[in-house]
Amino acid sequence: MGITNTANNSFFESVQRNFDKAAQFTRFDHGILAQIKACNSILRVKFPVKIGESIEVIEAYRVQHSHHKLPCKGGIRFSMEVDQEEVMALAALMTYKCAIVNVPFGGGKGGIKIDSRKYSDFELEKITRRYTSELCKKNFIGPGIDVPAPDYGTGAREMSWIVDTYSSLNPNNIDAQACVTGKPVSQGGVRGRTEATGLGVFFGVREACSFQEDMEKLELTTGIAGKRIIVQGLGNVGYHAAKYFQEAGAKLVGLIEYNGAIYDENGLDVDQVQAHRQATGGILNYPGAINFSDPAEGLEQPCDILIPAALESVIHKDNADRIQAKIIGEAANGPLTSEADVILNNKGILVIPDIYLNAGGVTVSYFEWLKNLSHVRYGRLEKRFEENMYNELIDIIESTTGKRVSDLERKTILRGPDEIDLVHSGLEDTMIGSYREIRDIYKNREGVEDLRTAAFICAIDKIGVAYEELGIFP
Ligand code: NAD
Repeated sequence: MGITNTANNSFFESVQRNFDKAAQFTRFDHGILAQIKACNSILRVKFPVKIGESIEVIEAYRVQHSHHKLPCKGGIRFSMEVDQEEVMALAALMTYKCAIVNVPFGGGKGGIKIDSRKYSDFELEKITRRYTSELCKKNFIGPGIDVPAPDYGTGAREMSWIVDTYSSLNPNNIDAQACVTGKPVSQGGVRGRTEATGLGVFFGVREACSFQEDMEKLELTTGIAGKRIIVQGLGNVGYHAAKYFQEAGAKLVGLIEYNGAIYDENGLDVDQVQAHRQATGGILNYPGAINFSDPAEGLEQPCDILIPAALESVIHKDNADRIQAKIIGEAANGPLTSEADVILNNKGILVIPDIYLNAGGVTVSYFEWLKNLSHVRYGRLEKRFEENMYNELIDIIESTTGKRVSDLERKTILRGPDEIDLVHSGLEDTMIGSYREIRDIYKNREGVEDLRTAAFICAIDKIGVAYEELGIFP
């Protein structure tokens, strides 16, 4: 997609610029602000892996942006665009993200510079395991040190290789499973992690669309139903976000992948598009839809909400003016360059920033980490107790009113929470509460002109206090 090293440099600079813009609205002195901004530790490794008959030297990174709370937390991505600047930018975003959603971690990020499509599963496993052992050697992984998770190009399978490698190198650590999140449930994962980021994106956009005053400014009605949506990137985040929007009655008018985009004003069905993609190798030529062989054109089609869920810097100064959406929900990290941000804000577009909107993944990762440390599944202790209690309550209601509750009603009321119910409810509560906190800053702190600045202020306020109370600035 033509993201150059320059774009990555400016991605890191963009993050720093957004921080500086917000910092002026906070009360912290220069030293504390400089410490919040600084990347605390950076690991760069190069290691050999045998691929076929030859040896390849693989370049990889792990950045721990902030140690103000430990462990550090953040995904690992597999991409050819990975370089130190990109991983630093992504790690910094993780610090702010965790603070916004009140997850007690410092920010981290990892990256391996590979095109995963070029390797067999066995070769990817070798690369991932070797990377994990490098992290172990340098003390850059551990339940209380640094806890990776999935990101672009990685998923539950890679996390499973990581936990297995870490556990075998740390056989005495009873908490070893908490060294990484996003694992399969059989390896200590939590139900609901796979869809967490996409579901969080949905909850966040839904909350933004619930304020009449804000929607009137955009000449939109409140609610998700009927809104026209374009999603870029049908991977973990984009697919699940699209699915939840569709289930809530939105119309998916456009879908974009790296090798083409499709548009249908009557609406697309995301599962049918995925099936078509699997059968044909791409989303193009989906029945009834218009094709764009240049995927970037897909971003510029008419819609109410645009969800970029692929990689950074996809909306920049050269295409920002042509974006027709009224709301942009940043599901990916850094999809807007800072120049694009200015153009879109001037056009009155509501940009819901990445450091809030895609925090669903780290929120549920936090739940997974807690589950691993407590060694018990959510709901295991209370489910049956609650069901028995509700049963008794219904009996009392029936005997005092003389009326019978139907079997269906009884079944619905009786059901105690499973792990997935608790995880989804914790995620929903987090996304709603954090949006309101950010919006409150946006509306009430003088001079704040956009939600991104408000989100950064929200993060700086919390991290600044944490540093002050650490007492490291006597
Ligand atoms: P993924 O690898 O599962 O999916 C990415 C998708 O984007 C793939 O289908 C890929 O083919 C597609 N893509 C690549 N280039 C594209 C282009 N130019 N146009 C359209 N599509 C393109 O990755 P993911 O985990 O869904 O991550 C996507 C974004 O969300 C990244 O920015 C990541 O940092 C961010 N994010 C992910 C998580 C998570 O939990 N996975 C959490 C927070 C943020």
